[in-house]
Amino acid sequence: MKDTFTHKGMRKRLVTTLQQKGITNKAVLAAINAIPRHFFMDSGFVDHAYVDKAFPIAADQTISQPYTVARQSELLEIEKGDKVLEIGTGSGYQTAVLLEMGAVVYTIERQNELFKKTKLFLSKLGYRPKRLIFGDGYKGLEEEAPFDGIIVTAGAPYVPKPLLAQLQVGGKLVIPVGEDVQIMTVFTRTAETEFEKEEFGEFRFVPLLEDKN
Ligand code: SAH
Repeated sequence: MKDTFTHKGMRKRLVTTLQQKGITNKAVLAAINAIPRHFFMDSGFVDHAYVDKAFPIAADQTISQPYTVARQSELLEIEKGDKVLEIGTGSGYQTAVLLEMGAVVYTIERQNELFKKTKLFLSKLGYRPKRLIFGDGYKGLEEEAPFDGIIVTAGAPYVPKPLLAQLQVGGKLVIPVGEDVQIMTVFTRTAETEFEKEEFGEFRFVPLLEDKN
C-alpha cells in the first residue's frame, strides 16, 4: 500500500476536524497526522479512512473512530517512555498512536484471528509494541504491572478490578463503562488505596467480552 500526498492531505484535514472537536494534545495530533490509517483497513475502503468514523475490520470488530482514539489517548496523559497497557488490540491503530507518542506499549487481544493478523501487520509497518499478547484483557497483565496508563478500547460492562490494581500511583485507567452506551471514565490512582473517578461523556464501543478464550 502507498501513502500518497492525497492521503497526507486527507490526514491533515482529519487532524483539523479533531482540533475543532476539542482535541488539543500535540503528541496525539502529531501521531494521527503521521499514521496512514488507510493501511489499517481493507484496501477497498481507503475513502473511509480519513473521515471521523468507526469502521468494520476483520472478525466482526471495528477500528475505533479517530475522535475516540484521540480522546482516549489524550485522557491517558502519558509522557514519552511511559508504560501503557492497551486492552483490545483490534486493528492495531490505537497501538500505533500510543507508539508514535513514545509510549512503551503492551497490548492484549482475545480474538485469535485478529491477534495473528495484527501482530504480523504492525511488525511489517515497523510498529513494535513491547508485547502483543493473545489473552483476556479482564485480567490485565499482572507480570508486567504496574503501568503508567491502561486504556480499554472495548465497552466494559463493569470496571475489572485487576486493571485498577495494576496501575502505578499517579497512573490513569481510561475505560468506557456501560452495556449499550458507555461513559468514558477515567480513574486516577492518587495513592496506594485511593482512586479518583472522572467521567467524559457517552461513546459506543463493541463489547469487552468475558470468558471467551
Ligand atoms: N484498539 C482497537 C479497537 C478495536 S475494537 C483499534 O484501534 O482498532 C475492540 C477490540 O477489543 C476487538 O478487537 C475485540 O476483539 C477486543 N476485545 C474484546 N474483549 C476483549 C477482552 N476481554 N480482552 C482483550 N481484547 C478484547
